[in-house]
Amino acid sequence: MSSQPHVVILGTGFGGIGAVRKLRDADVQITIIDKRDYHTFQPLLYQVATDELGPEDIGFPVRDLLHGHTNIEFHQATASGIDLAHKTVEVEGLGPVLYDYLVIALGAVVNFFHTPGADQSAFPLYTMDDAIRLKKHILETFEAVDKNPALIDDGALNFCVVGGGATGVEFSGALAELLRAELKEDYPNLPVEKAQVILYERSPHLLAPFEAKLQSYAQQALEERGVQVHTGVGVSKVDPASIELSSGETVKTHTLVWAAGLQANPIVNSLGVPLGHGGRIPVGPDLQVKDHPGVFAIGDIAAMTDGETGKVLPGLGATALQAGRHIGETIASLVAGKAAEPFKYLDKGTMAQVGRGAAVVELPTGGTLTGRVAWLAWLGVHLALLNGSEEKTSTFVEWGWNLLTHKRGKRIILSDEEAAGHDNPDP
Ligand SMILES: Cc1cc2nc3c(=O)[nH]c(=O)nc-3n(C[C@H](O)[C@H](O)[C@H](O)COP(=O)(O)OP(=O)(O)OC[C@H]3O[C@@H](n4cnc5c(N)ncnc54)[C@H](O)[C@@H]3O)c2cc1C
Repeated sequence: MSSQPHVVILGTGFGGIGAVRKLRDADVQITIIDKRDYHTFQPLLYQVATDELGPEDIGFPVRDLLHGHTNIEFHQATASGIDLAHKTVEVEGLGPVLYDYLVIALGAVVNFFHTPGADQSAFPLYTMDDAIRLKKHILETFEAVDKNPALIDDGALNFCVVGGGATGVEFSGALAELLRAELKEDYPNLPVEKAQVILYERSPHLLAPFEAKLQSYAQQALEERGVQVHTGVGVSKVDPASIELSSGETVKTHTLVWAAGLQANPIVNSLGVPLGHGGRIPVGPDLQVKDHPGVFAIGDIAAMTDGETGKVLPGLGATALQAGRHIGETIASLVAGKAAEPFKYLDKGTMAQVGRGAAVVELPTGGTLTGRVAWLAWLGVHLALLNGSEEKTSTFVEWGWNLLTHKRGKRIILSDEEAAGHDNPDP
């Protein structure tokens, strides 16, 4: 057994990765646990769902973090509970793992808000599996309509999206472009112009955190791309071939994409501490869990506030990454006998893409950008944020190819066995 303090990092999202990067040269032993063996770059999941990028473009192998570091181990395993009193994490297949310092960075899961039928029939868009499943469903729907065009009258080509935040807006714009360009050419015998993308948002505006003029720009840019935008309307029931709206109206559809909300990872219920808004773990200014020194919660699982201003921080990749780096440095300081510092968030602005050549950007200085300039800024920032050099290169190549040719390259449907890499040979 090593005499170095043992740091257990749960989750290799933006928060976990930020922490590992700052800690790996410290005098500690690190164990990383994640149920996946890759980091998912969630902001680009919608591009996997709409076939602009492949999964490998936005998935970063976690084991790359181990290269050149003898003090780190990684286990692809699911954490099922945390016992703060005994300083252990229950990990499936590994048993209890003891820690001296714990980083809880397990993110969030979809929240269907108890909407009847949503968990069975809606298509969430929060994980790589979700994105791959949704892309497959869209392509399979077209193949089904190709064989039986009567399905159009049953609503098969009505692609509905609920949630007008960045995920819903970005997905709707990209899907509208996929329909009007590639799929129109792929199915010359189908009336693809009858396909509709319909976006519902319960509040009066899209992109709630953005300035009003950016909200209006985003709505107009979506409508120019053929997306029907309905604000002030939510989805109250989901069936396999229809949805019910909060207005009482029923809409025929075989696809309801759920981009309407998240809640903290349910592991929070094992902690036995009072939880904050959205079931998130409340933390102090230095991101430690109250009454549990050495236990840090960061990113989407935590209710983080800025240590200087007390402002509640948004659930963003940038906040999680900065928080991860901060606690990586904090743990290294604590191990060296120094005190923990409060977390100060550096706001670098927020942005969302609406389609090719259209985006909105809110700068930290208060300025705003729209259109092509904003879109180029969006491309640059997302490329810079991608983790590995291979992912950066392949994404850059894919985007360049898509821009030049206006084509997406991977419109094929893999069976579940093929996708898992163990297809049976033909008899
Ligand atoms: C579709 C989408 C689009 C987004 N777009 C943007 C954007 O444009 N800009 C932006 O800044 N932010 C965006 N975000 C938000 C951003 O991605 C999140 O805020 C960020 O990923 C949170 O990081 P995290 O480390 O807290 O959690 P996550 O990144 O969610 O990582 C959690 C990790 O924990 C692992 N895990 C979960 N449960 C277990 C378990 N029980 N055992 C083991 N491992 C487990 C998961 O596999 C995952 O690797 C988007 C999010 C989504 C879903």
